[in-house]
Amino acid sequence: MDSFGRTHSDLRISVTDRCNIRCFYCMPETGAEFAKAADLLTFDEIERFVRVAVPLGIRKIRLTGGEPLMRPKLPDLVAKLSAFHDVRDLALTTNGVLLAEAAQPLHDAGLRRLNIHLDTLDRERFRQITRRDDFARVMAGFEAAKKCGYEVVKLNAVAIKGLTEPDVVSLVRFGRENGVEVRFVEFMPLDAQDLWSMDSVLTADEMIDILQREFGPLTAVPDADPRAPAAEYSFADGYRVGFIASVSKPFCMNCNRLRLTSDGKMRYCLFANEETNVRSLLQSDQTVNELETAIRSTVWQKWIGHEINRTSFVAPQRPMYAIGG
Ligand code: SAM
Ligand code: SF4
Repeated sequence: MDSFGRTHSDLRISVTDRCNIRCFYCMPETGAEFAKAADLLTFDEIERFVRVAVPLGIRKIRLTGGEPLMRPKLPDLVAKLSAFHDVRDLALTTNGVLLAEAAQPLHDAGLRRLNIHLDTLDRERFRQITRRDDFARVMAGFEAAKKCGYEVVKLNAVAIKGLTEPDVVSLVRFGRENGVEVRFVEFMPLDAQDLWSMDSVLTADEMIDILQREFGPLTAVPDADPRAPAAEYSFADGYRVGFIASVSKPFCMNCNRLRLTSDGKMRYCLFANEETNVRSLLQSDQTVNELETAIRSTVWQKWIGHEINRTSFVAPQRPMYAIGG
């Protein structure tokens, strides 16, 4: 629990800061700097962290990156983590480029929930956003995931004003046809090239307007889990869409998330300007008490919330790919 009474049950683990595409709102086009392979947490170290964090209240784990499917032998980590019975929800967020090959081995290892990041169904806009021409591979990954029988597949779309407005309707139509929920994420100031401005944020309310004009009324769904980041809305036929409105409607007072970076730093917020280095504590089985103290005190230090909407806002030193979204 932090000093504002928020309990933390959700852990995001980044398994690599590398990525095979270059979304402009996350990575620089060229010259991205990555942690040395030798500085990445090993799977045993990640498992050790989880073994200490679960008795402290962690119930949900999401693997992320960079692009998590670039981490060799990822199914081995999934198998280790899916053995924790108190973890009710183990999920993975991927850009889908390598998913056609990885979907089945990950499912075999125990993964049941996937978020596939797809901002557009337009190949040219995909290339413009990601600076790579991999749209067909992502679609192949999505098809492969559908065939494997994942319990939950969701699509994550980052929304950018002046660029992705046409995708709002087409992604929802695609999601509806395929029986998967789409979650729109407002563009946050976490890019590596300082491209963010308030004017480039396509807000949840603006997207709701676009969708209502096309598909009719959307109704807010009362939250089954008030700590979940996405606000859910439903159309008359029951089909749902989600909005992660971190910029226009910050949900910091509901935040239950803690992050572990691929190089072993704990962070209490995406936007935090401080972090706790736990890597050395993870290198031995003899440091359980110190690790427990480090987790508790990192959570206790958590600030009230980010200040994106204020002039005092200072963007974190790590861009999104190096934190783990
Ligand atoms: N590579 C994987 C992917 O793209 O899903 C996992 C890591 S990525 C950093 C996690 C999520 O962060 C992405 O799904 C994308 O929606 C989101 N993201 C990245 N940069 C963002 C930004 N500046 N603002 C909002 N969301 C962002
Ligand atoms: Fe890679 Fe994901 Fe960042 Fe896009 S959002 S550059 S896919 S880490």
